[in-house]
Amino acid sequence: MTERRYDPTSGEWVTFATHRQHRTYKPKADFCPLCPSRPGSPATEIPFESFEVVTFDNRFPSFSPNPPVPDVEGNGLFGVTTAAGRCEVLVYSDDHTKTMADLSIERVRMLVDIWTDRWVVIGSEREVSYVMPFENKGEVVGTTLSHPHGQIYGYPEIPPRPLKELRSAQRHLSINGTCVECDVVASELEDGRRVVASNERWLAWVPFWARFPYEVHVATKIHRPSLAALDQRDREQLAEILLDVTRTYDALWSFSLPYIMAFHQRPTNEDEAWDEVSHLHIEFSPPNRTRDRLKFLAGSELAGGAFVTDVSPEVAATSLRKARAKKI
Ligand SMILES: [Zn+2]
Ligand SMILES: [Zn+2]
Ligand SMILES: [Zn+2]
Repeated sequence: MTERRYDPTSGEWVTFATHRQHRTYKPKADFCPLCPSRPGSPATEIPFESFEVVTFDNRFPSFSPNPPVPDVEGNGLFGVTTAAGRCEVLVYSDDHTKTMADLSIERVRMLVDIWTDRWVVIGSEREVSYVMPFENKGEVVGTTLSHPHGQIYGYPEIPPRPLKELRSAQRHLSINGTCVECDVVASELEDGRRVVASNERWLAWVPFWARFPYEVHVATKIHRPSLAALDQRDREQLAEILLDVTRTYDALWSFSLPYIMAFHQRPTNEDEAWDEVSHLHIEFSPPNRTRDRLKFLAGSELAGGAFVTDVSPEVAATSLRKARAKKI
């Protein structure tokens, strides 16, 4: 069963992909489907003996170009539609153990190009309205394959969280005449207390309203709606700051920190004038609140959608800056 059902009480779609229950679950390292296919060993998903970066369609997709007909019929109250869209996997390297923080700057620069190309290609599909590259890193955030990789989803609608940000940005623009993210970046730069890293084109900081204790956002200092709007210098410096942030995370408690990383940017449909209100940024949400304790999304967060955070963003940013100084 693969279909989308509409919740008229919240105005949001839920996707059902029950075949995903049978997806490969924590295979042993010598059976990893994302490792290269080596002579004398069973073939993996990737038919090469070595590779730099590989993208392919997810074998267990939530959204696909030719989705099956829904199992149930909808009605005026319960909307039902096909799960049309895209789900791609992006394998960062042929080394089973190298996380993003372990990659060379050239390799991360290559990832930036691929995220950009896939954003353009997937976004040009008629049924896709929003393309979100993301990475779930670590078993505690539900990763079933430990080989470092990311995913790129092409959604049929703008997902609720980016949509909420876009609506807020539209309100801010109509009241103040400015892009809210541009204002946030300028304000954080001037204040400095929550800044973690900065280069000519990008800022990495703990948001004033961080929902996760060590949440870090990375955004362009100049307004850029999407990856496709970046010039060569922006791309080089994006690779640099992504390595800076991921290496800082690993230096924080001297272990490879799990996180969810996601790109928020311009929707790929032309339904509204998005350019002024979309400001490309990358959100890192690590689940740890201390070295050995995790933040769980519980009553207030899940049932109320209201986050309660245990660490002050100013203290978190100070700890991250100290970790960063240690790693350099
Ligand atoms: Zn592997
Ligand atoms: Zn902006
Ligand atoms: Zn965002």
